[in-house]
Amino acid sequence: MYLNSKREDFFKSFQISCQGATSVTTFVVFLCDKIAPALRQAVYERTAKSIAEDMQGKFPDFQGSRANLEVCILRYLAEQENFEYFKEYLTYPKQFSQSYIEKEVQNYCLDGSRRLEKFLDSSLDLLYRNILSAVTSSTQIVKDRIDREDRISLWLDEFCRELTEAMNLPRSDLKSIEHQEVSDIEFLNNVMANAVADLRDSLRKEFADADMSVFSRQPHTILAEQFSGCWEQCPFCGAVCTNTIPKHDGDHRLVFHRPKALTGWSWLDRHCQFEICSNLIQSDCRFRFSGGEWFPYKTYRDAGPPVSTWNILPDSSMQAYWKWFVCRFRTELEALHSLKFQGRGEIPASWQAITKQQALSELGSP
Ligand SMILES: [Zn+2]
Ligand SMILES: [Zn+2]
Repeated sequence: MYLNSKREDFFKSFQISCQGATSVTTFVVFLCDKIAPALRQAVYERTAKSIAEDMQGKFPDFQGSRANLEVCILRYLAEQENFEYFKEYLTYPKQFSQSYIEKEVQNYCLDGSRRLEKFLDSSLDLLYRNILSAVTSSTQIVKDRIDREDRISLWLDEFCRELTEAMNLPRSDLKSIEHQEVSDIEFLNNVMANAVADLRDSLRKEFADADMSVFSRQPHTILAEQFSGCWEQCPFCGAVCTNTIPKHDGDHRLVFHRPKALTGWSWLDRHCQFEICSNLIQSDCRFRFSGGEWFPYKTYRDAGPPVSTWNILPDSSMQAYWKWFVCRFRTELEALHSLKFQGRGEIPASWQAITKQQALSELGSP
């Protein structure tokens, strides 16, 4: 009799502890299934930001204004010395700048040192520690509340609250497990800690093959936002307005206008106009847009928009960079715009003497 009752007790408690273990496991599996996608997303978001911040600290390209970035791009273009790149930059300055930044980010993240994986790992480590500390503090808070019947619900409240900043894990998604009966909170704590470590390990394996496509908000997009502003191009030379506010009030303006030949302007005899617009507006010359009415440069605003929306200040100086460029890519420019650097469009001899090195040192260092 005695033995029998002992055996019954033993079986009872065994059953209870099995049930307890099962319900803890069910609880943890369910919770980790919810944490996994939220954690992955949080790692990507945090990583995109840290890559952008890291590059802002290390690359002179990203340490200043858009004017500074432009100097970096002009240097890059001169180093590459590829007319196709120039053409793209001159025609679509905004797109070119964005893809320039994108390329920089890709090289930085995916070169031999596999920085992308390291960035992902360190974000993962940080978030992993956040989750662990949320587990510990939720357990701590609930442990002493033997008076409460809804301890698991309380645990979940605390857990989600702790993680609010770190990731998107809505408490409402966890309603179906909040009434789970878990008596041994310490046991839950330990199972949870192990499960979260497993989750970290499997994500880490996943990151070994990661490429830039994992980011919904790309690091290069974050970097490019710093250079937002007006992207209107001078109707004469194609240089970009330097105002830092998109759709700003007042006139568009910029400091360094360029030779008009870059955008294909010519004299009537199809001879190139190597002149710079800020100098032409001081001359007695006239202009017209594709067969339209003629206007004196001196009163260029009379031509209406888009010219009238620009404030072009008289300035006869021209960057050596563009003089070098016109000489270096003379043939390509002639072919591109079906023009000739002849007669009135003959390139001044002084331009020919400018070396790439001179052009670059005048640009200054970023
Ligand atoms: Zn211009
Ligand atoms: Zn503007």
